Amino acid sequence: KCGEIKSTGMPIDLMTAQQLILRQRAKLLSALCCSGSSEGLESVLDLLLAWGVLVWEDYQSILLPGSWALRANTMEDKKELSSKAIQTLQSDRPSLIRKLRDSIEGALEVLLDAGSFTPLDCDAVQLPVYTPSQQARRLLDQVRSKGEHAAKVLLHYIQQKEQPPSQSTEDDWTIPKECLWYQKKLQSSVSAQSHFLSTNGGTSSLSLDDIYIDGQLELVQVSSESQPQCRAMGLEDVVGLLGTLNQEADTVLISGEAGSGKSTLLQRLHLLWARGAAIREFLLLFPFSCRRLSSEQRELSLRELLFLHCCWPDRDQDQLFQFILDNPHLILFTFDGLDELKQCFSDSEQRHCCPTRCVPIPTLIFNLLQGSLMKGVKKVVTSRPDVVGPALRRYLRKEVLLKGFSPNGIKCFVRKHHCDPNVANRVLDSLQNNTALKGLCHIPVFCWIVSKCYKELLGCGDREGCPQTITDVYLMMLQHFFQCRDSPRKSLGIGWLHEYKDTALHLGQLAMEGIKDSCYTFPGTELQKFGVTEEDIGMGFLIHSKHLSSFHNCIHYEFLHVTMQCFFAALYIVLNNNLNRSTIPKIFQPKDRQLQPPLHRACLRHCLNGQEEALKELAMASENPNIQITATFVSGLLSHRHRSLLLPSCPGPTLDRKSKQVVKSLSKGMHKHFKSIPQPVEEEKKSMHAMPDFVWLIKCIYEMQDSSIAKDTMAKLEVEHLKLTYCNIGPVECTALAYVLQHLRNPVGLQLDYNSMGDVGVEQLLPCLHVCHSLYLRNNNISDEVIGTLVEKGIQCESFQKIALFNNKLTDACTHHLAHLLKMKQNFRSLRLGNNYITAEGAEQLAEGLRLNISLQFLGLWGNMIGDRGTKAIANALKNSQTLVWLSLVDNGVSSEGACALAPLIKNSTLEELWLTQNCITRAGVEFIIQALKSNTSVKAVWLRGNELSPEEIEDLAQQEPRLIF
Ligand code: ADP
Repeated sequence: KCGEIKSTGMPIDLMTAQQLILRQRAKLLSALCCSGSSEGLESVLDLLLAWGVLVWEDYQSILLPGSWALRANTMEDKKELSSKAIQTLQSDRPSLIRKLRDSIEGALEVLLDAGSFTPLDCDAVQLPVYTPSQQARRLLDQVRSKGEHAAKVLLHYIQQKEQPPSQSTEDDWTIPKECLWYQKKLQSSVSAQSHFLSTNGGTSSLSLDDIYIDGQLELVQVSSESQPQCRAMGLEDVVGLLGTLNQEADTVLISGEAGSGKSTLLQRLHLLWARGAAIREFLLLFPFSCRRLSSEQRELSLRELLFLHCCWPDRDQDQLFQFILDNPHLILFTFDGLDELKQCFSDSEQRHCCPTRCVPIPTLIFNLLQGSLMKGVKKVVTSRPDVVGPALRRYLRKEVLLKGFSPNGIKCFVRKHHCDPNVANRVLDSLQNNTALKGLCHIPVFCWIVSKCYKELLGCGDREGCPQTITDVYLMMLQHFFQCRDSPRKSLGIGWLHEYKDTALHLGQLAMEGIKDSCYTFPGTELQKFGVTEEDIGMGFLIHSKHLSSFHNCIHYEFLHVTMQCFFAALYIVLNNNLNRSTIPKIFQPKDRQLQPPLHRACLRHCLNGQEEALKELAMASENPNIQITATFVSGLLSHRHRSLLLPSCPGPTLDRKSKQVVKSLSKGMHKHFKSIPQPVEEEKKSMHAMPDFVWLIKCIYEMQDSSIAKDTMAKLEVEHLKLTYCNIGPVECTALAYVLQHLRNPVGLQLDYNSMGDVGVEQLLPCLHVCHSLYLRNNNISDEVIGTLVEKGIQCESFQKIALFNNKLTDACTHHLAHLLKMKQNFRSLRLGNNYITAEGAEQLAEGLRLNISLQFLGLWGNMIGDRGTKAIANALKNSQTLVWLSLVDNGVSSEGACALAPLIKNSTLEELWLTQNCITRAGVEFIIQALKSNTSVKAVWLRGNELSPEEIEDLAQQEPRLIF
């Protein structure tokens, strides 16, 4: 490209630049391609294209073959490049992308109205797998392929949008100097705080830049049949306009399980802001950690909160504070870990709107989030999902789910973590061979542990010895830390845990007391109370909480991660031979009481005033999500597999007793769920909708790795349909579900819609496919890649007869697998593939299977793109079917030609319902259908709403054939 660079006449020393690029090739490649998303690469391409360094053909050839841009017509391109508006699209590309990101829908609407775009063009732009920036790029590419007129329409739209509402004095407005000074100070303090990850503190020198991988972010949207429930988004969209549900509210919630990367994501956002690389619309960003704020005993005013806890202004405090009050739209607050505040968010707290009056910290935070205080300031809050109640939800502008790493993200993380590519490859190979572990690694904190303990992982040999459960992973980490401490003195023997029992007990008791009190930071003096020694601290599980230490002028500690605190608490419960006998049953108590209104809890607190123990127990049973994680680890540690590790430290009978207590608690918990299953009404199937704790209990059973417990539990579950929708089920949960559900006595319909299983989750679920007669996987981020494996397994499972895969990411690349399923499985009854990306080609492949199948009753293809060609193939394959009763081709671009092709199918088959809503069938097409219906008595309804028919035509046609529904 050197010649081309020269021809642009850029003012840089070209040879040096080229040499630099060659020398830094490896670094550049990893910076461009190793973030787990293509965002970085694409934004560099935008710039190169805009500067004319790349020509359009280069740009296309860099994007992956088969990607949308490659399909653009290059002949057209040459002609259209001479047009002015199209040139502007190219030269202003980076800024146009920024402007369009938040208004894709508006732009598409205008292009549709102008006749420049078809609905199919819009769909191609709005694929839910694209982030808004990627959608903006696809929009520009699509507009370019449509020509000058479309480009003008788009530019006009952007221009209009940019016109300020009124040309007010805003133009003359400048930011006061004192604010710019303060901004600089704040930026450097935020940058210093965000540079390193806490898990790297002290043990490694990796910076956030070196290790950060984009997690999977999804926007929670209001459900509607035709719209996917969740869509992918980028980091900047967290505070952008995208997905706003409540315009009035200012608080954005990022929710995710412990270890899913919430704090790290916020840290990344902070760092980018501090460098001026993102969210530049905010002049000042104030980051808060709820964990740290929890240790603040004093009452504070808003002003003190900002200046004392974030950054002290060296001068002009009054002017600065006034500026903040006057310009809320330029300010961003972030609150990390709302679940770590001792008090739950409560709407009934006293309303407080005075920025200078002192109130308790929770009151301050709750009023900020509600908007009673500092209305208009954007706030980003992170929390675990099960701790966010309806009281807070009312004040949310939008909710974003953080779903951990994608399979590609895991690969990138491991590669970044290990600079030796051989080691990285070996770690990745061992994950490939251990699907349970691969599932676990999509949660970043587990991925981090696995990468950190790679020596132990690679040395564990056979599959049996490899970690399968979360407890195995944390035991591996424990061993690793102890080993690191003593290495190279010796290698740890079988009784390694016993050797370090004292450390485990000291840290365990500290962890346990902390969890009971919702306390996650510990002053040095507290440590002594539990016998924690310097040597214990030196093991590396506790880290120095620098911010708190300097704030309180005494050293504070915290565990490397909250899950580690839970693990130590579990170790304490298991290793402490004098444990109160009621502890284990108590930690397995359901969280029901968590749903009690806060007022009620406040009253209870009042009544129990002074009774410390009673208060602690109340907190323990009802408020703390970490208790459940602790209980999960207790189940794992008391598994038979770890008995030999524990026996040197605990007498066998004590272990047996504790283990029995766990099994009894789990059985009791399950029984409670089964008891709540309502009796089915007449003709309905007996169905159980899982309550929130069901999946947790299943995970505990999995941790025990004792199939007899799974078998006993499932023997008592007698349902025909098991509904686990919206249960936050990811790959980890799928592994546990399959482990337990495979023991069901009779096949069930397993409904897992609206979760985040992904391909890895589907793979994990396969061991229980033989007990599923139907599998519902709507909205689960499933791609073509796993369909082959699913089909292979499905063919072997006699009972498996129905699958629903609406709203996933399926394309023509998977239809030959589905055709194979139809060919091989002559008892298969229902295939629903709505709202995927299947075109005529996929439909033709599917038809190959349909032709040879003699059992299919339901075929759903709504919201795909099969068009007339695909319709012909499907109709032809099914025209002699003796089983088909229901066919949906809704919203598939079917015209009268397609309708004509359907006529023989209508005439000959057993069809009862045909759905053709939202297509482009005209009167001529409907007449073919009417003709065919004359010789058919089985069809009950043909749905034709939303086609190209006038009201008069509809009236006339409806009179001719009452089975047509318009
Ligand atoms: P959460 O706040 O959800 O409990 P954290 O953000 O503390 O999770 O993540 C736990 C650990 O996982 C981090 O310390 C880091 O080691 C790793 N991690 C999380 N997110 C990422 C990411 N996006 N890129 C790289 N590592 C990550």
